[in-house]
Amino acid sequence: MTIQARKPLYDTFSRISLGFERGDGAWLITEKGDKYLDFTSGIAVNALGYGHPYLIKALKDQVDRLWHVSNLFENPLQIKLALRLTALSFADKVFFTNSGAEAIECALKTARRYHYMNGHPERFRIITFEGAFHGRTLATLAAGGNPNSFEGLGPKLEGFHQVSFFDKSALLSEINEETAAIMIEPIQGEGGVRLVSHELLRFLRDLCNQKGLLLIFDEVQCGIGRTGELFAYEWAGVSPDIMGIAKAIGGGFPLGACLATAEAAKGMTVGTHGSTFGGNPLAMVVGNAVLDIILEDGFLDRVKKMAYILENGLSQVVSRYPSIVNGMEGFGLLVGLKCAISSAEVISAMRNVNLLAVGASRNIVRLLPPLNILEDDLYEGLSRIEKAIAHLAKKIL
Ligand SMILES: *Cc1c(COP(=O)(O)O)cnc(C)c1O
Repeated sequence: MTIQARKPLYDTFSRISLGFERGDGAWLITEKGDKYLDFTSGIAVNALGYGHPYLIKALKDQVDRLWHVSNLFENPLQIKLALRLTALSFADKVFFTNSGAEAIECALKTARRYHYMNGHPERFRIITFEGAFHGRTLATLAAGGNPNSFEGLGPKLEGFHQVSFFDKSALLSEINEETAAIMIEPIQGEGGVRLVSHELLRFLRDLCNQKGLLLIFDEVQCGIGRTGELFAYEWAGVSPDIMGIAKAIGGGFPLGACLATAEAAKGMTVGTHGSTFGGNPLAMVVGNAVLDIILEDGFLDRVKKMAYILENGLSQVVSRYPSIVNGMEGFGLLVGLKCAISSAEVISAMRNVNLLAVGASRNIVRLLPPLNILEDDLYEGLSRIEKAIAHLAKKIL
């Protein structure tokens, strides 16, 4: 436990007093040598676990060559990763960022600039969905629409409107001649691991086509293999015009990207956007290395298999201990347990058996093991989850 007389950090995080010194696969290890099985994966960031030798080598080799080169100059490593991302997705164009919020910020600018280029500068409004989370910049907070999150920050940035994804008529009545785009996470992460129905995603695609709107997917959390496909949207059989990714693509190195069709990106002309660090060579080699592994033959099939084991195991826990957990949501290796008691209490009981999980809105415990988790570790995790929950169930009897 670290107790500091002076607290030099912003008080914005309520941190758990646990510090880790190193990581190995799905495990985090404290200075004292205590091992924790990590089912948060750095909130979907450490998709290949900790200390992956292939990622370490890719980064170390680049460290000896070149750390940073300005976007004033060509960067072959960016081109390589962008060619791969576009070949693997709906997109033709990529802008690299350092975070998810920046990727979404770029997506929002791309959508507004598209309509501006078409002679419609009045089309700047973006529709988003209740429970959404898109980042912590002023624009992405406005997009997220959570009133608590922009308290005390001055006027909320204009042009964002939220609807419930259970209310199509509210959505339709929100669209007018000023609407530019609809933005949605195919699976809400922070909002409580809510899977958006494929039917709704297809409805949004048709609606955007009809009304000349752009469709933006935020796959910062659910993308890059988490669902067993490279992108979550592939399951629904519809593609967006613009998409933000981040988290897992860097495997722990700060990296994000905004992907778009050539048509949607046509307004992003010279000078309309930029980044000092975006597309940094260190980030690019790691992004390429992450893709090398995720695209290996059988990798995503294995994710689907692990997801099946996780879902099966958790559903048994849910059926045995309904007084503690009474439902399951999510998809692939992005799963939420609905809690009948406070989710914070459940997470803390899990931590007491050295299993790490993270909360989400709607009283959900979120579980996101690394995509390459060993089968034994997955079963170990399930048994710890059951142990923690059984202990809580006994306590409330
Ligand atoms: C984490 C997250 C973001 C923000 O990413 P940062 O890297 O924290 O800026 C945006 N959208 C979704 C869906 C996320 O899960």
